[in-house]
Amino acid sequence: MKLKERVVLHCDANNFYASVESAQNPKLKGLPVAVSGNPKKRTGIILAKNEIAKKFGVKTGEAIWQAKQKCPNLVCVSPNFKLYEAYSMKLRKIYSKYTDQIEPFGIDECWLDVTSSLRLFKSGEEIANEIRERVKNELNITVSVGISFCKLFAKLASDMKKPDAVTVLNRENFKQKIYPLPITAIIGIGKRLEERLHKLNIYTLGDLSQANSDILKKKIWNCWC
Ligand SMILES: [Mg+2]
Repeated sequence: MKLKERVVLHCDANNFYASVESAQNPKLKGLPVAVSGNPKKRTGIILAKNEIAKKFGVKTGEAIWQAKQKCPNLVCVSPNFKLYEAYSMKLRKIYSKYTDQIEPFGIDECWLDVTSSLRLFKSGEEIANEIRERVKNELNITVSVGISFCKLFAKLASDMKKPDAVTVLNRENFKQKIYPLPITAIIGIGKRLEERLHKLNIYTLGDLSQANSDILKKKIWNCWC
């Protein structure tokens, strides 16, 4: 018997903290907004920013004064983690209408295995678009959804088009779409592993797919343990 191909969605809320603040406070609509530590003293760090602030070059991790140099009208608000937690639960409630196979990853990301839900829906894409619309209409924030046959690629796909978008990586298109990407596009490959792979002349996911697994094991895995 041929096993049924899995259909996995990865839903990632866009600019989560800043989007929740804007959703809660209509006065912030259309303004560049950042969530930051201690906005009054201007000494805090930018924790999150919305799309408008991003266009001005505001970056997560920089000091408020630096951000304001690039974006003088930037509105800084203190974080309200209880509120973000409540929105996280609201998101999961929407997801739970489509599957009970939900795996949260941090406060604003979830994997949804919708393989069994396809008896009720046409495709993973149909579910993803319904989720995208519902989140926008009911919560006033947006999500990017990646769809694939495994969790790793679903997560990668949700990063490929943002905000408020759906990206599909299937057996037919995944090589063409992901092989040109840098190895760090995939979850789990950070700075240190990237350097090691570069030493082996592996720069893209395409390079990684061609790499000899024995060499990888010897050069990467053995050094790791
Ligand atoms: Mg996110």
